[in-house]
Amino acid sequence: KPVLAVVGRPNVGKSMLVNRILGRREAVVQDLPGVTRDRVSYDATWNGREFVVVDTGGWISDAKGMAARIAEQAELAIDASDAVLFVVDATVGITDEDEAVVRVLRQSKKPVILAANKVDDQRTEAEASSMWNLGLGEPFGVSALHGRGSGDLLDAVLAVLPDAPERAEEEVGGPRRIAIVGKPNVGKSSLLNKLTGQQRSVVDNVAGTTVDPVDELVELGGELYRFIDTAGLRKRVKEASGHEYYASLRTQGAIERAEVCVVVLDASETISDQDLKILSMVEEAGKALVIAYNKWDLTDEERRRYLTREIEQDIQAFKWAPSVNISALSGRNVDKLKKAIDDALAGWETRITTGQLNSFLGRVAASHPHPVRGGKQPRILFGTEAQNCPPTFVLFTSGLLDPQYTRFVERRLREEFGFVGTPVRVEVKARE
Ligand code: GDP
Repeated sequence: KPVLAVVGRPNVGKSMLVNRILGRREAVVQDLPGVTRDRVSYDATWNGREFVVVDTGGWISDAKGMAARIAEQAELAIDASDAVLFVVDATVGITDEDEAVVRVLRQSKKPVILAANKVDDQRTEAEASSMWNLGLGEPFGVSALHGRGSGDLLDAVLAVLPDAPERAEEEVGGPRRIAIVGKPNVGKSSLLNKLTGQQRSVVDNVAGTTVDPVDELVELGGELYRFIDTAGLRKRVKEASGHEYYASLRTQGAIERAEVCVVVLDASETISDQDLKILSMVEEAGKALVIAYNKWDLTDEERRRYLTREIEQDIQAFKWAPSVNISALSGRNVDKLKKAIDDALAGWETRITTGQLNSFLGRVAASHPHPVRGGKQPRILFGTEAQNCPPTFVLFTSGLLDPQYTRFVERRLREEFGFVGTPVRVEVKARE
């Protein structure tokens, strides 16, 4: 789905406008200084078209160097988007901060729609026209408060939003797309350096491939891979203000664009909720997954014993993911990542024929029939792998299945067919 970033300085009404776009009434977001939120993107639909709204309402504002800071943060959000909705306040007029954002927008060359907000009445309408001076084309006067003009605005947004992200991901047969993700300081940048250091030079001009400037092509064992959003790892984004918020935004964007994600965990430290959240993000996005336990050089025997227990408890839900114990610093086992990545991608692409699947489903039903519920016993009539990447199965049944039974079928599918390194989806279509 294409991504729309909503940017603008604090208090111009971005949050309210995002709510308008999402068709929600409640204030989910506030322009409070220092607010960081977990979710930064939302699914939206307009006239039957689906897109993702990246909300930058969580900007941290402080008095010093505000324009520069806002520009820096806008840059990160704009990087991750396909088009930008730039929001200004018609009642205030053009400020230095607005102009700082405009400079970033110009450089990015992404399509921009300009919304002049707080046009609540006739009088402010004239003020909205003064926003022509930003040089971004026609300003759309809107009132996020009353909903005024938001339909026209969305029509304009959709007109510039590409159907599919305008990046190279649909390139069939191009280099596989890998994202290195993980919470700050686990060693992502170090790992990337190790991987790129193992080859002589980064190829940047392969015939027939387009490279997003934030990506790097890296050769591993004679094969070319595209590492997604490495600029984020190179630029030391974590030192920027609002880093947690933007780290999370970047992580989400990188996962979205990747086919396979290498989630880096720090083996020398306790597995945290943040680690688990990133693992879940990968699974929910339906991407292939490899887990790298980094900083292995810092673990002693006791820590490793404890880690084994943590993995059994917390990582159980991801035990299908291949894992490698590495040291990005010394390079230990880093060369083993390639095989884990290839295995995960193979699992992710697996196609099971309808014949194979139904013979398997027949055996499952014979050995473990669905329990009888209220005198009825739902049966699986037929199944098919509706799509791969990740493998997604649709089961046609004579009635609703217990969620527990669906999970059982999913487990059996894994036992039967492997599906190393990939989420597996099972959908049920009940014929009542
Ligand atoms: P990022 O924030 O995930 O990109 O993490 P960095 O790559 O910047 O690494 C954070 C810190 O951990 C740096 O000081 C690295 O030198 C250190 N580090 C990374 N990998 C290893 C490792 O395998 N072993 C040890 N001992 N330190 C590491």
